[in-house]
Amino acid sequence: MEQILRNFFLFLSKNKLFTKLAKKYGLRFGAGRFVAGETVENAAEVISQLNQKGMLVTVDHLGEFIDSEEEARNAAEECIEMIEKIARDKLDAQLSLKMTSMGLDISEELVMENMRRILDAGEEHGVFVTIDMEDYQRCGKTINIFKQLKKDYENIGTVLQSYLYRTVEDIEDLNQFKPNLRLVKGAYKESPKVAFPDKKDVDNNYKKIIKMHMLNGNYTAVATHDDAMIEYTKQIEKEYNIPRSQFEFQMLFGIRTERQEELVEEGYKMRVYVPYGNDWYGYFMRRLAERPANVAFVLKGVIGK
Ligand SMILES: Cc1cc2nc3c(=O)[nH]c(=O)nc-3n(C[C@H](O)[C@H](O)[C@H](O)COP(=O)(O)OP(=O)(O)OC[C@H]3O[C@@H](n4cnc5c(N)ncnc54)[C@H](O)[C@@H]3O)c2cc1C
Repeated sequence: MEQILRNFFLFLSKNKLFTKLAKKYGLRFGAGRFVAGETVENAAEVISQLNQKGMLVTVDHLGEFIDSEEEARNAAEECIEMIEKIARDKLDAQLSLKMTSMGLDISEELVMENMRRILDAGEEHGVFVTIDMEDYQRCGKTINIFKQLKKDYENIGTVLQSYLYRTVEDIEDLNQFKPNLRLVKGAYKESPKVAFPDKKDVDNNYKKIIKMHMLNGNYTAVATHDDAMIEYTKQIEKEYNIPRSQFEFQMLFGIRTERQEELVEEGYKMRVYVPYGNDWYGYFMRRLAERPANVAFVLKGVIGK
């Protein structure tokens, strides 16, 4: 049953009509639990509250499936506005974004142009930018964009997903750039031709890439809510004397908040991924797919209103 629900929400997450309707009718149906609001101001308030609790942030202006150059340029503008807001309010925050929101499905030139503007603003204000990883179809292109930009910018990182067979090779290949990488299990529905179908294999590969990247001496963001993976990272830290300045934990806004606070109390760097904006639908559906138990929570919220 859980697998059926998971596939159902992943199917819904790609529906363009629902994406448009969701934008039009606002942040309802419980998405507010996972999304910091629709505006830069809403996001800044949430970031400030998290910073006060000792947490770092990466803020994501939600956006995917854009259809025009104009939309991509507007999305880049929003990112620059957020970077300026981070600097103005002295927030401890980085930026995350998706290549499709920058125009990946339109042209690579457009993406590069938008990214250079964002990275220039980031450089000016000391804000680091992480390129989120999307589905397999776009993985190779995203990594190539990252490689090109990394030659010119220090303030850029990206994400690798342990469910993909190719990821171990990507870790090895990207090592030449000494990159700051966020490591995740992977949130999209992929074919067994390209991704491990069994959770056990995804988890084992996750441990493998955490160890590889940390022992390569590269900055590692372990982005998971899974205690077993957090414990594994701590084990590697102790076994190989990895300084705490070389890695951090990351979790999503609204998920396992108490665990996030515990990690801060234990003295670890904890970064919360804070999404905001009106294009929240796809993000919200992927969160429901990850944990169908959240549906009950959302339904309670809707019925309770
Ligand atoms: C900061 C961050 C950034 C991300 N960026 C990307 C990205 O760019 N591209 C991408 O494809 N994916 C991204 N993801 C999503 C990621 O790929 C996974 O889909 C997601 O994190 C779920 O996997 P998991 O590692 O948390 O553990 P899972 O294997 O889903 O769960 C393992 C265990 O963790 C605990 N757990 C998980 N969720 C919850 C919950 N909601 N409440 C309580 N306990 C829970 C439970 O004990 C569960 O059994 C990101 C995730 C994070 C945290």
